[in-house]
Amino acid sequence: IWTLIPADTIAAIATPKGFGGVGVIRLSGPDVRPIAGEVLGVLPPPRQARLAWFRDLKGEAIDQGLALFFPAPHSFTGEDVLELQGHGGPVVLDLVLRRLIQLGARLARPGEFSERAFLNGKIDLTQAEAIADLIASGTETAARLARRTMSGEFSRRLQGLVDGLIRVRTYLEACLDFPEEEIDARADHAISAEVSDLVLRLEALLASAQQGCLVREGMRVVIAGPPNVGKSSLLNALTDSEAAIVTAIPGTTRDLLHREIQIDGLPLHLTDTAGLHASEDLVEREGIRRAREQIGVADAILWLTDDASDPGAQAFNPTALDLPPQVPVVLVRNKIDLSGRTPGLIRTPDGTEIALSAREGLGMQILRDHLKEMAGYQGTSEGIFMARRRHLEALNRALTAMREASNNLQQRHAWEFTAEDLRVAQEAIGEITGEFSSEDLLERIFTSFCIGK
Ligand code: GDP
Repeated sequence: IWTLIPADTIAAIATPKGFGGVGVIRLSGPDVRPIAGEVLGVLPPPRQARLAWFRDLKGEAIDQGLALFFPAPHSFTGEDVLELQGHGGPVVLDLVLRRLIQLGARLARPGEFSERAFLNGKIDLTQAEAIADLIASGTETAARLARRTMSGEFSRRLQGLVDGLIRVRTYLEACLDFPEEEIDARADHAISAEVSDLVLRLEALLASAQQGCLVREGMRVVIAGPPNVGKSSLLNALTDSEAAIVTAIPGTTRDLLHREIQIDGLPLHLTDTAGLHASEDLVEREGIRRAREQIGVADAILWLTDDASDPGAQAFNPTALDLPPQVPVVLVRNKIDLSGRTPGLIRTPDGTEIALSAREGLGMQILRDHLKEMAGYQGTSEGIFMARRRHLEALNRALTAMREASNNLQQRHAWEFTAEDLRVAQEAIGEITGEFSSEDLLERIFTSFCIGK
């Protein structure tokens, strides 16, 4: 019988490279028991830490540490797993790893332990991804949301939708199979109501997933404008650091400065650009070219002007500046401590204007709030879980199909079409959990993991 479950035993150092108090080696697969017997002399009792010597071919000790044995199926991967916690030095860990390979294990690929956990049905795809996201999380909010997805919160809501879809589909297919039966008007109504309810639940789920995705990916903001208007100062005011060099000489920021900050859990990837203007200076021209590149991929542009010397904001001319039309631009009037304008936000037909002083810290909260608003970030983590772009894409596809289903059912009473739409929706949701996923997708997901995870 062809089976998905791999027959070999994999091993990897699960702790980061370098020196540490402890280093962990993981082993998973069918040969864990005999390998453990050779290395440790005896198989440790299940799930109990044992102090043991890790021995080489001649029986000489390589290291001493804790050995933990998790018999299948009650392990992370669902297979027999052995964890060796030895001393965290690269050479000693490598010696232990080589010993395991000598005994028949093979080096694990990145994410292979998680992949086995997925293939053995211990976790679904969203949970596997959440493990990687938890490890990679850069903010407390991201870690909290990843933990929720890892514990199955996203999966449960997806499963709830799938259960509903299966119920409606079963009913519809039965009706299609027995067309001679009278279609009960009340049942027809109940089905419509159920489909509408599923659409609402899917919309709510998508909204939560969008928030989760924002927390994972953040927002890319480019700070642009002519030289000396206070771009570096604004970056500093947002990051509360002296990251950018602030000087009174125009054109000091020749290269791009990147900063990662967060506003209430929303990560902002800030880039301070060289002043955008015609320049003879080669280095500066290169800076400008890079600035344009960043602007093209940004989620928002903060265009700064000096409100004291340019109250008419002459320096702000999105058309002449040839800014990409799809990226929203905020005109930030800086240095209002000099111009005397009050801090605030105005919405004009062309966009939004914010008056502030980066150096004096006036109006900075207005800018922060506006950035959150632009991202669509609600700043609450209630009911939200970590999600990725591929989840949003699949949820959107499911939603389109569901709306189509609802329409086909209510407007046209086209039951065959409805049934097909519901099938498409269910398949899109199945892609998220990994129920219907291509091998390509699985490979892409798991190879982005760390080794030993
Ligand atoms: P950049 O070239 O656009 O990055 O501008 P900088 O941040 O280097 O600032 C240029 C000059 O403007 C510096 O002397 C800053 O101290 C000054 N500056 C920046 N923001 C403000 C502000 O809000 N008020 C005042 N009065 N000066 C500011």
